[in-house]
Amino acid sequence: MSEYYIYQDQKRCIGCRACELHCKTENDVRVGPSFGKIINVGPTVRGDVPRINFIFMPCFHCENPWCVSACPTGAMQKRSKDGIVFVDPSLCIGCKACITACPWGAPQWDKDTGKAIKCDYCKDRVDQGLEPACVTGCTTDALKWISPAKSSQVRRERFAKAITEEIPFP
Ligand code: SF4
Ligand code: SF4
Ligand code: SF4
Repeated sequence: MSEYYIYQDQKRCIGCRACELHCKTENDVRVGPSFGKIINVGPTVRGDVPRINFIFMPCFHCENPWCVSACPTGAMQKRSKDGIVFVDPSLCIGCKACITACPWGAPQWDKDTGKAIKCDYCKDRVDQGLEPACVTGCTTDALKWISPAKSSQVRRERFAKAITEEIPFP
């Protein structure tokens, strides 16, 4: 995994999809593919309350990325300095091996260029000390740009609070 992580506080997410919109605008992604996507799960009923969960799905920038291993040309790469996984379009031959290899469907197909495209954690912004566009564009502050270790701590604290105050988890 990269040294970064996008943590989604699902309690705060209202499914407005501003993250998707800001991602598309920042990365010039046309109608169809989505680098970061909100997946609706539900409705389910908890107690007597119907509920829909909105799950944010970007690329997870895996420690040993299947997409990088599958790519025959070296187009799909992992940055050594921070672990961000990205595509070099000049090397992509459009074979779609990365799309097949990723268990989470993160690589997308650009039919206009015939190449794979994907979330690169907005690396150009990150290199300028900025947060990804989806994080800054989130209307409810549900997305956080933090380290995986910090994410674990946040979830532990939430669980501890839930079992002592008997509030719903997560
Ligand atoms: S595209 Fe898939 S396999 Fe590759 S780093 Fe992202 S989540 Fe991992
Ligand atoms: S589609 Fe492009 S990035 Fe994906 S595996 Fe093939 S050459 Fe590599
Ligand atoms: S980190 Fe950047 S590329 Fe990835 S989903 Fe968020 S806005 Fe899109």
